[in-house]
Amino acid sequence: MLTKTPKQCWEEFVHFMEDCCTATEFQNWIAPIKVHNDSKEELVLEVPNIFVQEYLLENFKKQLENFLPTKTNGELALSFAIAAPKKKAAAPNLIRPSVQPASEKNKALLNPAYTFEHFIEGPSNQFVKSAAFGISMRPGKSYNPLFIHGGVGLGKTHLLHAIGHYVQQQHKRLKVHCITTEQFINDLVDNLRSKSVDKMKRFYRSLDVLLVDDIQFLQSRLNFEEEFCNTFEALINQSKQIVITSDKPPGQLKLSERMIARMEWGLVANVGVPDLETRVAILQHKAELKGIKISHKVAFFIAERIFHNVRQLEGALNRLAAYSRMMGLDVTEEIVENTMSELFQKAPHKRVSVDNILKSVAVMFGVRVSDICSKSRAKNVAFPRQVAMYLAKELINDSLMKLAASFGGKTHSTLLHAWKKISRQIGSDEMLRRQIQMARRNLES
Ligand code: ADP
Ligand code: MG
Repeated sequence: MLTKTPKQCWEEFVHFMEDCCTATEFQNWIAPIKVHNDSKEELVLEVPNIFVQEYLLENFKKQLENFLPTKTNGELALSFAIAAPKKKAAAPNLIRPSVQPASEKNKALLNPAYTFEHFIEGPSNQFVKSAAFGISMRPGKSYNPLFIHGGVGLGKTHLLHAIGHYVQQQHKRLKVHCITTEQFINDLVDNLRSKSVDKMKRFYRSLDVLLVDDIQFLQSRLNFEEEFCNTFEALINQSKQIVITSDKPPGQLKLSERMIARMEWGLVANVGVPDLETRVAILQHKAELKGIKISHKVAFFIAERIFHNVRQLEGALNRLAAYSRMMGLDVTEEIVENTMSELFQKAPHKRVSVDNILKSVAVMFGVRVSDICSKSRAKNVAFPRQVAMYLAKELINDSLMKLAASFGGKTHSTLLHAWKKISRQIGSDEMLRRQIQMARRNLES
């Protein structure tokens, strides 16, 4: 009799699950799981994070038992390995936003575009996204509160609303309320004026999920802070989920110790600046949503130049779309450069030294600094030397003679020659251009 390997059993399970859960559920919880090790005795699955493992076991244990072999003691012959953090951005997931009108009772005003499906993952935000997803699955049962902090335009509000959407869709009976801190304060002022604070209190305390955006606006609003803190405690004590966003971590907010301590009770997660690959993936995803065609090359071109903040990336895309529509032109690098030059960010210039350049280039080409400064003409040394000389002339405002001398006593004409050669080569060698760009950015930031 032919018996199936654990891997085949798993594949059958995945196939089965594809039919019986929603596309979102499948994309987020089943698709990311990989077979790590397929021995005869046990199946080892690789999961991107602990939430996926917990979710699988909690929700689909029965189905797993139907498909996978069990050990003699009846337990599933299954274990898990957590994957190393991904280097590359996850491919964009192209599920259209499911625009759902917020019901009357749920006053949550959520931006329909801010869903998990439209949130592109990368190393800078994977953890916070998993945490957000984890609490959306089981509001009030894992981390409470979830505190999300990070710089402007990096997706905090997007994640907050994504939680709201998900809870509204998956837990229809739960009462969700999403509010900015300013709205909360205004609400409170209005209710104080109309002497209806009790009504407001009752409303807040009846919520199951409270999503609060931009808590930094509570700083130096002493009266409001106390009311907020009371609401907060009342909800947390009933295991109602709270999610808070902020531009700083709790400890750096000018709030009372009591408030800061409360906010640190649960999980504090940071959303960082996305790396180049993630920015490219975000651009392409947003372009697709807007129905604009941009090539991978153009996406790279933009993402290499706008690197602080996703909102600016989107702004650039909107401008580009308007321009190309108006002119009836395809989006090329040239058009991008012409229409958006003032948007491109100049990295704050740090003082770069020849030493730093040498170290950076040595790492890039896997040679030693002493080799670069030696007299060797071997190609594997000469080429990195020319790249380092090129960077020195580009980045350091000093006489060529002095710069050349720092390369083990070379002459200024050697340096000039190297600069000309590399400048020319960059024009035709895309890989080299990118490498140098990267080295440049690392040196300057
Ligand atoms: P924040 O609240 O942190 O200032 P937002 O959540 O308002 O930032 O995000 C700004 C814009 O960038 C939004 O349009 C959002 O959709 C987009 N954005 C940010 N991060 C991502 C991401 N990882 N994937 C897709 N879009 C993103
Ligand atoms: Mg925001």
